Formats: sequence, structure tokens, C-alpha cells
Amino acid sequence: QLYNLVQDLKGTIRVYCRVRPFLPGQSNGQSTVDYIGENGNIMIVNPLKQGKDARRVFSFNKVFSTNVTQEQIYVDTQPLIRSVLDGYNVCIFAYGQTGSGKTYTMSGPDLTSEETWGVNYRALRDLFQISKERAEFIKYEVGVQMIEIYNEQVRDLLFITLTPCTLDIRNNSQLNGLNVPDASLVRVTCTRDVLDLMRIGQKNRAVGATALNERSSRSHSVLTVHVHGKELVSNSVLKGCLHLVDLAGSERVDKSEAVGERLKEAQHINRSLSALGDVISALAQKSSHIPYRNSKLTQVLQDSLGGQAKTLMFVHINPEVNAFGETISTLKFAERVA
Ligand code: ADP
Ligand code: MG
Repeated sequence: QLYNLVQDLKGTIRVYCRVRPFLPGQSNGQSTVDYIGENGNIMIVNPLKQGKDARRVFSFNKVFSTNVTQEQIYVDTQPLIRSVLDGYNVCIFAYGQTGSGKTYTMSGPDLTSEETWGVNYRALRDLFQISKERAEFIKYEVGVQMIEIYNEQVRDLLFITLTPCTLDIRNNSQLNGLNVPDASLVRVTCTRDVLDLMRIGQKNRAVGATALNERSSRSHSVLTVHVHGKELVSNSVLKGCLHLVDLAGSERVDKSEAVGERLKEAQHINRSLSALGDVISALAQKSSHIPYRNSKLTQVLQDSLGGQAKTLMFVHINPEVNAFGETISTLKFAERVA
């Protein structure tokens, strides 16, 4: 059966799909991606089936194929960055199974090469650039927080205490409007500052990881950029906030195999990713009840999901045949929120 779900731009939730290329030495040439259309369609083929039944089409706002560069990916993200400086809240998510390219999209493979910089760095570079262009009229200040959510606990990635400390989430906090007021807020003035902070954050994220269990795929990392602008003539103040979220790997864990810590992690991840899916799809359907309270992730992002806020989700596909099951479940998740 061939599904063709016509996609219209609902509200301010956008879903982009990115297909990771085969990695060197990995491919036998067979891909589960049969076809990518210009209009945001992607056709997936089940390697174990034949004929029409083997194919299914999913539709999104955009689909990026394997040869699309970091620069091209960013071009379609840029308008959101500008709107942060206009006082909007924006969330950008990377979703997908471990190894599908989430960190590649958000951070890039290598901080030393500007050409492969991910969305995070390009977004901050543009924030500084645009605020400079507007300096005559508006004075902007930019502050950054970086947290990790692991097993439903929030941890500061910019300041590590000897004993791990879990941070509280406070919504409607009048105090400087921060949802995680106790996480370090570091003022930044240029891309260099941001690069330094991200190095610290990445290093801290690895703390506690064991060889068997790479922490970065088991936790959500949230880089939050707070922008505060003051119009020089009117003195009016403008506040915007950008959340850049590298989500935990979405792969389902075989319950018969995972035990102990690993099972607990997997359950937390499943629950928080479905809570995120529930919130975004409730927003897309303009539902009157938005279930923010079901996970730490959606609580942290509450002010930036819904209302005037804008959401962009990159869903990542690993085209390998043995990832077929995860690819379908990733696309179904994405279809639900689109
Ligand atoms: P994830 O964060 O989802 O676990 P990564 O971003 O770490 O996945 O990507 C897994 C591997 O694939 C890395 O070696 C990464 O450099 C590579 N990779 C991912 N996306 C791309 C891409 N678009 N082009 C080239 N290499 C990529
Ligand atoms: Mg990663």
C-alpha cells in the first residue's frame, strides 16, 4: 500500500528529514531510501519485501539527501535564528537513532573546520552578525546555558561539581526568566567564546560515560541561548530564546536484553521522547491541553514550545538495510509531530 500524506505547513512546527550517507567501509550499496522527491517526500523500501507492498512514502516540509552540505542544511534554518533576535522563542531538535547523524547536524564532526560546522555554531555566528548589524538601534546581550538531561535529572554541563548535582526546573520563574535558574549562565560576545564553552560542555558530557555505554547517546543535551535586546530610542526590551537540542538516541531497546542501568536509561529515554512527541503533536493539532508535565525535557522547554514559539525538528535516517526497523519508527514519530 502506498501512502501519500500531503503535508501543509501547520502552525510553526517544521519537520526536516536528513539522510546520512553511508560511511566509508560500511556500505554494500543497498539503501532503504528508494527515492527522495522535491516536495518533501521520501520513499522507503523494505529490503525483505517485494513489489508495491515493500514501499512506503512519508512526507515532511523538506527532505535532505546524503549529499547535502552543512551550509545547505543551515540555509533553511537561518530565518528562525533571525526571529530569536526579534524576540521569539525557538526550539531546534535533532532526533534519530544513535549513529544517524544528530550530533553531525547540530555540532558537526569537527570543531576545527568551519566548513563542517553544524547548526549550533552557525546559529550563534549569525546571532552575533545580525546583532552587530542592528547595533545602531538595539543593544543585544547574549548568554548561554548548557545542560544535560539524563535519567530525568538535569545537570549543568558548564560547571561540574564534585558530587553530581541535580538542578530544579522552575517554570514561570520571574527571576530573569530562566527555566533552569541554577545552571551556569555565561555571557558570550563572539563565536570564539561559544566554541570554548561548547568544548567544555562536550568534555563534561563525557564524564561518567563508561566504555560500554556512551553517555552522549543516552542523554539529551540542551544548549540554550538567551538573547536580551534593548531598543536604544524607546528603551523597550526584547527577549528571545533559542534551544538547540541534541536528543538521546531513539532506538528501541530489546527488553529481553537490557537489564539494570541500561534498562532504566532506555525507559527514561522512551518516556521522554514520547512525551516530546505528545507535546508537539498536541500543539500541531491545536489541542487545548498540552501535556508538558510528563517529562523534564518538555518542562525545560515549556516556554519555547507552543504559543508564539517556533519549532524545527531534524529527523535523521541511517540508510543501511539493517537499520530499516528504526528508520520506519523514526519516520512514524516524525509524521506524528509534523
Ligand atoms: P548520532 O549523534 O546520531 O549518534 P553522529 O552525528 O555521531 O550520530 O554520526 C555518526 C557518524 O556518521 C559520525 O562518524 C559522523 O561523522 C557521520 N555522519 C553523520 N552524518 C553525516 C553526514 N551528513 N555526512 C557525513 N558523515 C556523517
Ligand atoms: Mg550524538
